[in-house]
Amino acid sequence: MDKTASPLPAIESRHVDPHAYPAGVAFLDGQYLPMSQAKISVLDWGFLHSDATYDTVHVWNGRFFRLDLHIERFFGGLERLRMSIPFSREQVSEILQNCVALSGHRAAYVEMLCTRGASPTFSRDPRDAINRFMAFAVPFGSVANAEQRQRGLHVAISDRIRIPPASVDPAIKNYHWLDLVRGLYDAYDRNAETALLLDFNGNVAEGPGFNVFAVKNGRLTTPAIGVLAGITRRTVFDLCAELGLDCTAADVSVPALKEADEVFITSTAGGIMPVTIIDGAAVADGKIGPVTKRLEKLYWDKHEDPAWSSPVHYG
Ligand code: PLP
Repeated sequence: MDKTASPLPAIESRHVDPHAYPAGVAFLDGQYLPMSQAKISVLDWGFLHSDATYDTVHVWNGRFFRLDLHIERFFGGLERLRMSIPFSREQVSEILQNCVALSGHRAAYVEMLCTRGASPTFSRDPRDAINRFMAFAVPFGSVANAEQRQRGLHVAISDRIRIPPASVDPAIKNYHWLDLVRGLYDAYDRNAETALLLDFNGNVAEGPGFNVFAVKNGRLTTPAIGVLAGITRRTVFDLCAELGLDCTAADVSVPALKEADEVFITSTAGGIMPVTIIDGAAVADGKIGPVTKRLEKLYWDKHEDPAWSSPVHYG
């Protein structure tokens, strides 16, 4: 017997602790449930093969931010994966509304997802599977914590190549994260807080749950290929248009990123977040730059603007 193996746990200690889940409400198989009861079969292809697509929108101060764009991207993913759900865009919007309202969260991370599901006969043909739609609302979470937002994130550039678009279409928001998770461990080993992965040409691509921007001489650039078309990334383009800033999607080499005046990352999980250290060296003077600050402020201001956000009806 392996001497390092622990004894099997007693049956009682294997019981699920409902408090281990974040408080929230899920919609699953036509029912609204507490998060702790939202469970799916281990035979679901979403679990067995990562055969799933999803989207995440956030609620801030009781308002959804750009919900229509998230729903549109989600339906695009469904179509590309040849999945179908028995709900229209309006019904998905209503389900998300209900999850948030029932949870009572005023700052929430709200996810809609669809897995391939399972086939009643355990057939290996994906066309036999019954697709499964789910949604949930849990408390808002951010890639960067409060301290990191204040002083900027410490990022390491991993040698790992982000899964190429010819293999998995990044327009489909997906759970193919093994490269991103390995990148995170590379970063931790190098005393950094998060990672950026490369594209197949060796340029910077994206990180675990975020896009990246470099600012040089007042101009912004974000990687064009091999990345998810993030809604926050798109929002930065929209904000730049409003501010008269030049913003382009193009290759960003590793030296260009390291020599930038400012670097920031973007995600629904946190918005616009500054990066001040890359591979142990300061970005410019190591302080959060003026363009990042200006965009970050405008980004959060837009959360109150009815053209960019919509209220949750808490009832
Ligand atoms: N890139 C990846 C791989 C992601 O998973 C995400 C979000 O989860 C992003 C980028 C950022 O996208 P968004 O701004 O739509 O949240």
